[in-house]
Amino acid sequence: MTDIRVEVTDLHKSFGSLDVLRGIDFSVLRGTSTALLGPSGSGKTTLLRSLNVLDTPDRGVVRIDDVSVDFSALPAGKAGRVASQRLRGQSGMVFQSHNLFPHRTVLQNLTEGPVVAQGRPVEEVEAEARVLLDQVGLADRASSYPHQLSGGQQQRVGIARALALKPRVVLFDEPTSALDPELVGEVLAVIKDLASQGWTTVIVTHEIQFASHVADQVLFLDGGVIVESGPPAQVIGDPREERTQRFLSRIL
Ligand code: ADP
Repeated sequence: MTDIRVEVTDLHKSFGSLDVLRGIDFSVLRGTSTALLGPSGSGKTTLLRSLNVLDTPDRGVVRIDDVSVDFSALPAGKAGRVASQRLRGQSGMVFQSHNLFPHRTVLQNLTEGPVVAQGRPVEEVEAEARVLLDQVGLADRASSYPHQLSGGQQQRVGIARALALKPRVVLFDEPTSALDPELVGEVLAVIKDLASQGWTTVIVTHEIQFASHVADQVLFLDGGVIVESGPPAQVIGDPREERTQRFLSRIL
């Protein structure tokens, strides 16, 4: 099997007359972490949402593991929806704000998706969910309700919930930007651990230091194109492109 877990080819997306993604190509190796950096409005979130088909690209191909969709030739109607849903099932999304079910316990938040959407047996799913809670440092909070947890703990539950669906790639959209500064570290530590546990991750972040230390690959977006890509030591440490240099000098 190929080691390429995610492959994006010539992806385009417009909103009305606004061309947000203008021909995106990249790939992500299995078990690696990719950071998406770029100025506000450069298309990072749209790219992430396109991988999860929350936004439907206008053209281009997205392949995640063994599921590939060519959006240039997406069939109309049900067939197109089925193809999109199959691709969506390959990835798990962690948003800025966790959107946990408020009236369900932490454990129920994790088991709902695998049991209801994937039809998997409750006991097996619960056992796995407890392992995941342990991994995010919340083994003792299985019976708590979201409002009883801190923002950082809630976000860690959100991460465990995404993992419970066993996605082929975990997508993070600025997972720490809604948190108080003192809670950012614990969430980044959990995300960092995922890489060492073999998960494949793509993360939109403004945490440049984190990207430097954790990412295997950095993609720098500006104006809907990837301006520069490579290992963090190159893209962040020694950027070649003027636009990357300007962006980094503003935020470092
Ligand atoms: P980033 O994540 O880099 O800040 P986004 O992907 O969120 O960038 O947005 C890129 C551009 O697309 C912005 O100009 C934004 O206003 C626009 N945009 C994003 N989503 C929509 C939408 N659903 N409808 C219209 N415009 C959108």
